[in-house]
Amino acid sequence: MRTRTKITFLGTAGGRITTFRLVRRSGGFLIEKNGFLAHVDPGPGAFVYLKEKGIDYRNINLLIISHLHLDHTADANTLIEACSDGGRNKNLTLFCPRSVVEGSSRIIFPYLKNRLKVVGFIEEGKELLCNGFSVLGVMKHTHHGAETYGLLLAGEILYVSCARFEERMLEVYPKGKRVMILNTTFYSRRSAIDHLSVEEAKDLIRECKPSLAVITHFSMEMHEKVPEKVAEALSDELGIRVIAARDGMELTI
Ligand SMILES: [Zn+2]
Ligand SMILES: [Zn+2]
Repeated sequence: MRTRTKITFLGTAGGRITTFRLVRRSGGFLIEKNGFLAHVDPGPGAFVYLKEKGIDYRNINLLIISHLHLDHTADANTLIEACSDGGRNKNLTLFCPRSVVEGSSRIIFPYLKNRLKVVGFIEEGKELLCNGFSVLGVMKHTHHGAETYGLLLAGEILYVSCARFEERMLEVYPKGKRVMILNTTFYSRRSAIDHLSVEEAKDLIRECKPSLAVITHFSMEMHEKVPEKVAEALSDELGIRVIAARDGMELTI
């Protein structure tokens, strides 16, 4: 029998206005599987919203960061402090691109590094493991010069993090996974901005044929288009179940 996996979307904002005027919440998403807890992209508010969901930070095993932008990392340092109980509990592993931890643009405070049990660097084609939970760097994305990767999590959750659409995605992204989460920031394609639009997300979903697709990381444009309506239209057109994430939404797959 397949084990159940729970995904909790703390927030669904993407882009300057929805995130930083708090039109929608941020904070990334939490994956719970067999008592293992992995938190992905701890943007602004993750620390507070996890508490609201009744999560004890000390039980979080793994922090996964797709890239260093603030909407994905604002609470990363706070969570390292909280999950490690100020360094008393060395249970937390961090998987992220190297640029999150090293180099002049790093965003993890150097003094917090010794609070972590393991730091693993995500690369394209490389699989990292934490207590049997796998994180595979599927493909390096183009995203405003930030080092970022699409990820396959626990072999079943395909996370298309922020990216400019590239044809190569259609070949490289694995097919037939249980759930595909797409950071679908714009409704209409904007060639000057390295984010996915609905049309591009549609091509990816059609090609990858997941059992379920979840769109999230919405700009103001998407917010005004009403993401639930957009998802419904995608479902009808593709014949694949597509839903829009809501702030606080809990999904069991
Ligand atoms: Zn970004
Ligand atoms: Zn983003």
